[in-house]
Amino acid sequence: MRTQGWRSLTLYILTGLFILGMGVFAFRLGTQGASWAMQPYNRHLKTEGGTTQGGGEAVWAGTIVDRDGTVLVESDDGERHYNEDSSVREATVHTVGDLNGSISTGIQLQYRAQLLGYNALTGVSGVTNNTEGSTIALTIDSDLCETALQGLGSYKGAVMLMNYKTGEILCKVSTPTFDPENIPSDIETNDAYKGAYYDRTLSVTYAPGSTFKIFTSASAIEHLTDWGTRTYSCMGKEIINGNTITCMSQHGELDIREGLAVSCNIYFADLAIDLGAGNMTETCNEMGFNRSWDLDGIPVQASHLDLNGATDDQIGWAGIGQYTTEVTPYHMMLTMNAIANGSSAVTPHIIQSITDANGSVSQPDESRITLLTSDTAAQLNDLLRNDVVSDYGDGNFPSGMQVCGKTGTAEVGGGKEDTAWFVGYCQNPDTPYAFVAVVEEGGFGRSVAMPIIVSLLQQLA
Ligand SMILES: [Zn+2]
Repeated sequence: MRTQGWRSLTLYILTGLFILGMGVFAFRLGTQGASWAMQPYNRHLKTEGGTTQGGGEAVWAGTIVDRDGTVLVESDDGERHYNEDSSVREATVHTVGDLNGSISTGIQLQYRAQLLGYNALTGVSGVTNNTEGSTIALTIDSDLCETALQGLGSYKGAVMLMNYKTGEILCKVSTPTFDPENIPSDIETNDAYKGAYYDRTLSVTYAPGSTFKIFTSASAIEHLTDWGTRTYSCMGKEIINGNTITCMSQHGELDIREGLAVSCNIYFADLAIDLGAGNMTETCNEMGFNRSWDLDGIPVQASHLDLNGATDDQIGWAGIGQYTTEVTPYHMMLTMNAIANGSSAVTPHIIQSITDANGSVSQPDESRITLLTSDTAAQLNDLLRNDVVSDYGDGNFPSGMQVCGKTGTAEVGGGKEDTAWFVGYCQNPDTPYAFVAVVEEGGFGRSVAMPIIVSLLQQLA
């Protein structure tokens, strides 16, 4: 009896698991059927897709345009064509995507179902009639993207700028880039193209350097009652646990306002050590570290901060954006967006609208992401405005924009030049832009990353 009871229990469990499995399968077919149908290895689509380029590769029927209606890619006479201007193609390829799906975050791959007019009930309409794919209007301005690409020049890096009131990303550029109409034959082997398939705005993390002092400041504002008056003394270097932290200068005694404006390493290393790993981690996690994001469904790499078991010198290095801390450009822009909005970031969007074959238009929902308290946001807003007024100079930016910002120059080691950063936003509600520029092996943030943002703001002025 005992054996039989055990057997029937097993049978019940197995039957239950089977029914559960079928339920999960049916659910996934309904919710993820579109992406299954559009896998690059779905030969049915490749051979009968009706839209081909250069002899039978899978391509997508619908058109992608920028915010002004400039066509970025479309299908014509059964072939896929990008914008006729090669610099527009190079400036937007990471957002639009290539035809082979090598850029995994590109719209052509991520929104292939919509571009083909996939319908969960009837299958792929675009297979039988290639005119039935949707038109996707992006929020980006291809002219601004070209300006950012020129600014990056031959450097590798990422530039993003958004309207923090509407959530629209106006500029999004990643280098090294390439022309999707003429893919270089040495793209896999030439170092100049290393990582060319990665969209560095979303998929690559960088040591934040001094831009991280914004997060250290936030932690102080949240955890230390005397944060506004607390001073530390900078002698140009400090030895902690036998490890030397150096500063650009001997700043003497500073408070947080002065410390952030001159970007004193000693001030923020000492501040981070006094805050401790627990407080630093708590603030950073609230502000979006160690969690992944998505941009209209496109995956964004998580920023990373881990102070578990860190010694004082390591916490000191972390406080100035070194140690093992890494941040995506997207997360930096989101943080600027949140501070500019007074605690909650307006969720960024890259999709402006999707218009299907029947003329029905869908748009992303408006939402917000709370990253910090309104008091912390207000204090950071004041500190970041002071950086520009007292140090970078309002005269370097278009007049009246009231730019707030922070530069960064992050050491990467290995004999490489530093990573240059500039992050910030405009306080003026008439020019509600939040931005980030990161330049690999660029050297100083102020001399390399900041001018790229200035050129974008001049274009928007
Ligand atoms: Zn200093």
